[in-house]
Amino acid sequence: MTMVAGLDRRAPAVPGAVDAARYRVFTERHWDQIPQLRALPEEQREAMRAVAKVLPFRVNQFVLDELIDWDNVPDDPLFRLVFPQPEMLLPHQMEAMLKLLRAGADNAALVAQARMLREELNPHPAGQQALNVPRVGEQMLEGMQHKYNETVLFFPSQGQTCHAYCSFCFRWAQFVGDKELRFAANEAGHLHEYLAGNPRVSDLLLTGGDPMVMKTRNLAQYLEPLLAPGFEHVQNIRIGTKALTFWPQRFVSDADADDLLRLLERMVDAGKHVAVMAHYNHWRELEPAVSREAIRRIRDTGAVIRAQGPLLSHINDDAGVWARMWRTQVHLGIVPYYLFVERDTGARHYFEVPLARTWEIYRDAMQQVSGLARTARGPSMSAGPGKVEVQGVTEVAGEKVFVLRFIQARNADWVQRPFFAHYDEKAAWLDQLRPAFGEEKFFFQDEYQAMCRAAGVERA
Ligand SMILES: *Cc1c(COP(=O)(O)O)cnc(C)c1O
Ligand code: SF4
Repeated sequence: MTMVAGLDRRAPAVPGAVDAARYRVFTERHWDQIPQLRALPEEQREAMRAVAKVLPFRVNQFVLDELIDWDNVPDDPLFRLVFPQPEMLLPHQMEAMLKLLRAGADNAALVAQARMLREELNPHPAGQQALNVPRVGEQMLEGMQHKYNETVLFFPSQGQTCHAYCSFCFRWAQFVGDKELRFAANEAGHLHEYLAGNPRVSDLLLTGGDPMVMKTRNLAQYLEPLLAPGFEHVQNIRIGTKALTFWPQRFVSDADADDLLRLLERMVDAGKHVAVMAHYNHWRELEPAVSREAIRRIRDTGAVIRAQGPLLSHINDDAGVWARMWRTQVHLGIVPYYLFVERDTGARHYFEVPLARTWEIYRDAMQQVSGLARTARGPSMSAGPGKVEVQGVTEVAGEKVFVLRFIQARNADWVQRPFFAHYDEKAAWLDQLRPAFGEEKFFFQDEYQAMCRAAGVERA
């Protein structure tokens, strides 16, 4: 399928937008139509394709032509950001898929095998679904999560895809057609009802997928009503997106780009804080002229752009890359916000970086930037109990420990209390850490278990 969202419109304002103004999408089904792949060795193409049968794959012409450096493939970080890599499947998984592919298995067999393999990849980490879904009366509100007091997450149903897919995405289960693994909301009514009834909520965070795949008029349907009386408490509107990387034309030359900017401007003028929460993994995403034009246009509306993204092996596990990315962001008027630890889902064995190493990279990058870029908090794990930050590694009473704290927590009372885990060079996630000083449990553990039991969730 070819989606054409931007043909025959006024001349794009910046060089680089000219050829790319046409939004052409490639998924696994269009594999053979991607010209750049033809230069790769057959063996690699076959293995990549096997992965693409299991994990979501989607790329567009702009990413192919302007972001990926094909002279540097397969090492290019932006190639690895979107293209499935052979090592993303474990050897037994790769073997199973190749066997079917080589035998010319029919689609049903491939789909069945892929589904089985996905189950091995922890498609829904941290019990998100049952534990965080808010209610009005008895009714569970689909497409919403309310985990931290101040902030409601909303997943609009039209925003459950992205302009391209990140190969490491923890939302990947939402993209592979598993209906029961989706959380998406069909309509705005529930959102507004819930917000109106919860005056303690100050922030709405639209997320996806990528809400910026929606037409402006759909986005407006969620946002515009918040300007009416009764929603004064919803002061901060955040929109999570990677469109600034994958399709900056959304803000520059798409048919409704100007409408989008006017919508943001109206929200700002009405007194809302509008934050575009931009997902970035590498400074190279900030280089194309059209990307910079998009940033400039968004900032012109009075909206703030904040940047966040995970640290990933093979893509950005390098202090110099982070330092340069943060410096470039500050230069372009973007506020660095979070550095995340990659979640415990999908091809984690490929992307995973131990906490100790992740913290070292964070520290070394921080040491190279000015205070304006030190607003990036982290490394932060979005785990079941909350966002846990690795503050550092030190020695206390003769024991090497991680110093940790909650940046956000299911119980606000846990926030900002330092706690300690026994140092473990290999640990890569909260559930692999054990308390320091011979203690049996972390301070929050009993209470958290009780919350899970109350919500009927085994492990979260
Ligand atoms: C990160 C996150 C938020 C926002 O937290 P902030 O610290 O305010 O940025 C809200 N809800 C969920 C579920 C989150 O993971
Ligand atoms: S843009 Fe975000 S939601 Fe979309 S694939 Fe990338 S990480 Fe996942």
